[in-house]
Amino acid sequence: MALFETEALVLRSYNLAEADKIVVCLSRSAGLIRGVAKGCRKLKNRFGASLEPFTLINLTYYEKEHRELVAFSRTEILKSRFNLSSNASILTGFSYMGDLLVDFSPPHQANDNLYRMALACFEAVSETPDELDTVLRYFEVWLLKLEGFLPESRVCAECHKAFSGEETVYLGTDLAVRCFQCSGGRGSAISKQVHALLRATEKLAPAKFAQETKEVSRDTKREMAELTFQLIGRVLERMPRLRPAPGQ
Ligand SMILES: [Zn+2]
Repeated sequence: MALFETEALVLRSYNLAEADKIVVCLSRSAGLIRGVAKGCRKLKNRFGASLEPFTLINLTYYEKEHRELVAFSRTEILKSRFNLSSNASILTGFSYMGDLLVDFSPPHQANDNLYRMALACFEAVSETPDELDTVLRYFEVWLLKLEGFLPESRVCAECHKAFSGEETVYLGTDLAVRCFQCSGGRGSAISKQVHALLRATEKLAPAKFAQETKEVSRDTKREMAELTFQLIGRVLERMPRLRPAPGQ
């Protein structure tokens, strides 16, 4: 049995037996982990409020060989988000990001870029709750990118011509992006405005992205939301759950 320590973001938990819980976390050094927190539902317990969803913790756990479930030993709260738990749309946004992290992250595979991106997005929503939708779009684009599912959108997949940024391009059912000539106009159109938003996500941190895209029209934001929703749906082969309605 080996002992590990890592920083981790609690994503969700399920009750187990009378007093225990199974807790799912995204950890910095081991990626997605599922663990049993024994006795955590007893009134007085060593975990306190640290296993509430979306709490950032320092986690010590035991891992047994060939067992996917680890055993939580000790936790320490680094950042609680309890103060936001009364805001329904923020909670829905957090749950949505949490669900996608669970869906996209292979268990026990550290991905430092994904961990840092997720943390930055939770932070950006906490600090600027009004920008929830924009931060969620940013999160979706980066999640797709870091897990290798974001289509190349700088050059045409067919003729390899670099897009000028002034044209509408087309996303095919094979998730490749093509120019008008190569696609024959078939597939989902991606306007130059959405194209520009996609490029902006690559350059900016989430809070900055939300700030700098305040003037972007509702139509463009809606179009971007449809695009990421479609991409995620195709990767998961079902519609993502619990996505907050735009403008909520
Ligand atoms: Zn082309």
